[in-house]
Amino acid sequence: MDKKTRQTTKSVQTTSSVWSILWLLASVIGVAAAFWITPDRVAEYLSDDGRLSYRLEQKLALLRWAALLGPGFLFFAGSSHMRKRITVLGGLAWLTAAAMFIQTNYPNNLLAHPKRLARAFLGQDLLLKDYQPVAALKVEERLVRKALVPVINIHTHFERTKDVRTPKEMVQIMDETNVRLSTDLDGGVGERLKERIAEYAGAYPNRFVIFASIGMENRMTSWDYFYQVIDGLSQDKAAGARGIKIWKQLGLMWMDQQNRLIQVDDARLDRLWSKAAEIDLPILIHLGDPSPAFEPLNGRNERYEQYTYFSPEWWFGSPSYPRPAEILAQFERVLERHRKTTFIGAHMLCLAHDLGALGELLDRHPNLLVDLSAMPSELGRQPFTARAFFIKYSNRILFGTDGNPSEEAYGEYFRFMETQDEYFDYPKYKRYNAGRWKIYGLNLPYDVLRQVYYNNAAKLLHMPPLEVESEIAQEPVPAETLPSHP
Ligand SMILES: [Zn+2]
Repeated sequence: MDKKTRQTTKSVQTTSSVWSILWLLASVIGVAAAFWITPDRVAEYLSDDGRLSYRLEQKLALLRWAALLGPGFLFFAGSSHMRKRITVLGGLAWLTAAAMFIQTNYPNNLLAHPKRLARAFLGQDLLLKDYQPVAALKVEERLVRKALVPVINIHTHFERTKDVRTPKEMVQIMDETNVRLSTDLDGGVGERLKERIAEYAGAYPNRFVIFASIGMENRMTSWDYFYQVIDGLSQDKAAGARGIKIWKQLGLMWMDQQNRLIQVDDARLDRLWSKAAEIDLPILIHLGDPSPAFEPLNGRNERYEQYTYFSPEWWFGSPSYPRPAEILAQFERVLERHRKTTFIGAHMLCLAHDLGALGELLDRHPNLLVDLSAMPSELGRQPFTARAFFIKYSNRILFGTDGNPSEEAYGEYFRFMETQDEYFDYPKYKRYNAGRWKIYGLNLPYDVLRQVYYNNAAKLLHMPPLEVESEIAQEPVPAETLPSHP
């Protein structure tokens, strides 16, 4: 070997040593970081209550993977310059570390379950989303096409849903199903409200009612503007608005100009609640959401599928959102301060899963009513408790559906209210899957149906109650004698 070749060999060896050392260092640091930066550890430093926001948790997962995989990429880029023995040993060590990382952080991964891996490979493993069992149960089923007594639907959205219909189509459906009156909660205010009233209530004055709705989606523009809107509610009422809708953004995500969340009992909103009492318009308010929306999204969350696949935007489990109990406590203070204002808690005030608590609230606050829209899923899985609740609070519950219901959707609600059918799908099960269970009919007494379907809403809207003789030709039919459908 001449001098020159020896020198070249030496410099190649030095380069490969440098590469190898660099790679080993990067690997040790990367792998250690991937293992050490756990969400719990980061939460200890970053958050007061030990919880990380969903978004931060996602970013953290990405960071850990980058730390782990970074040395892997370096390895492939530099392996041709490295010493063979280090290449083989280092590569093996890194693969082991990666496997351990997956194993500790993703215990459900298929590598950890060779049998499951084999079954998945052969297409024999069943995913949760594909598990759609058909009940073997054979019991009588009843179809209810028309409600037993006339209905006022206090909670619908004429245009904000996928089911947009013309006023004429809606009236046809209402005639078929015995629905007298439908309320649109998306009226807006001012000119927009006037147009909407003309379009619907103008064409069918006795069939449609429009509520004013106050935009609270994003950050508020200014309190001055907000007060202008509130003062304008007098004109809105004169134009035909029959109530006011407040969306769930209040208390959950509506910010003031300084980017602070506006609390439900913020004193600056008192003017709104007082105004409603002064001009005698009820306020239909959606507060919070069902409790699983605020819980971690894991295998213990009974609405896991809904918030994962169907409506992820309805999950508020990250700590940047307030807890539902806080929102409710704020609302109670409003109820106390504004006893002359009538409030309708949308969706059973999102407390259908805890009717004991809702009953206590109704006992404490005579100015509170609730609507049952979208809640057969919760109510129908506790038919004994719910039936007793409806009988006890028959003057405090209003009928509503949410959305813009078809004949079929109305039939599902009436079946839930009127029959004692067992173990059937709740309305919109397929669209939202609010939880994997079936419901039971409440078989509500005739007098309760009259109140909930019609009279309670009629009173709020200053309409006469149902007259027993003329309006109801039909006597209540015991559920057992109703014709069953094949
Ligand atoms: Zn709604």
